[in-house]
Amino acid sequence: MKAIEYHRPTQIDEALALLGRATPLTMPLAGGTWLNQPGMEPVAVVDLQALPLNQLQRQGQLLQMGATCTLQSLLDAIPDVPDDLRKAIRHEASYNLRQAATIAGTLVAAGGRSPFTTALLAMDASAHILPEDQDISLGDLLPLRSEHLSGRLISRVTIPLNARLAYEYVARTPADQPIVCVAAAMWPSGRVRLALGGFGSTPLLAFDGSEPAGVEIAAQSAYSQAGDDWATAPYRQEMAGVLARRCLEKLQTS
Ligand SMILES: Cc1cc2nc3c(=O)[nH]c(=O)nc-3n(C[C@H](O)[C@H](O)[C@H](O)COP(=O)(O)OP(=O)(O)OC[C@H]3O[C@@H](n4cnc5c(N)ncnc54)[C@H](O)[C@@H]3O)c2cc1C
Repeated sequence: MKAIEYHRPTQIDEALALLGRATPLTMPLAGGTWLNQPGMEPVAVVDLQALPLNQLQRQGQLLQMGATCTLQSLLDAIPDVPDDLRKAIRHEASYNLRQAATIAGTLVAAGGRSPFTTALLAMDASAHILPEDQDISLGDLLPLRSEHLSGRLISRVTIPLNARLAYEYVARTPADQPIVCVAAAMWPSGRVRLALGGFGSTPLLAFDGSEPAGVEIAAQSAYSQAGDDWATAPYRQEMAGVLARRCLEKLQTS
């Protein structure tokens, strides 16, 4: 990436004014692990590191994660982050990368293979968007990220702490990106949400309801067309069903 302008505001209003300009194309710079890659078109960048957006805060049953918290800080600072969310974070990126990659940057840059995004979609995470001061569910944000985020900023991402999570995947090696991954969240009310990753431009919500009997079939049908160079659609369908069943068993027995 070639930066044609570099700004490091200390006030959120200042950052929003820069991001809201019609020209030049201006983007938030968080950990920079994705934005700094070669081959990106020249842009003006607004470095978020001096903004007060790196707090992790509990509010009752919710965990509010500042947009610039790194993936590693989430592992280090919050002991009751669900174990399988930890597993998905470790699967997302290596230790070095986790120290730079931020929560919001990861969600914005994520493709369909992102374990962290798949887990947060299952947990029904929401993002707080500025300047509108509005929450948007990750499920609504992901397919339309460029439209929703043009000239805007994610200030924090919220997840429930009362939902349990199970995360399972198949990959060529344990540390490789998933060919198929499944995350299932279960609330005390019995609500279950199941998200699939491993394919396409964004993870997919396959199930949200309180009748878990349908989860396996929902997972299989959601990947009925999910064929690419990594795996055929029938293979992904089969694996999605198996992993969904495994996640559900884990949630029901833990
Ligand atoms: C060596 C290496 C290996 C990698 N391997 C993988 C991999 O295996 N799988 C994978 O999925 N990714 C991989 N990545 C990509 C990268 O790690 C992630 O996409 C990363 O988590 C991005 O986070 P970041 O904080 O560095 O974001 P940045 O690179 O700073 O930004 C990413 C995008 O998010 C936007 N953004 C950032 N913060 C905000 C905000 N608060 N509000 C609105 N928009 C925002 C930026 O404008 C930009 O468009 C790899 C990167 C590197 C360098």
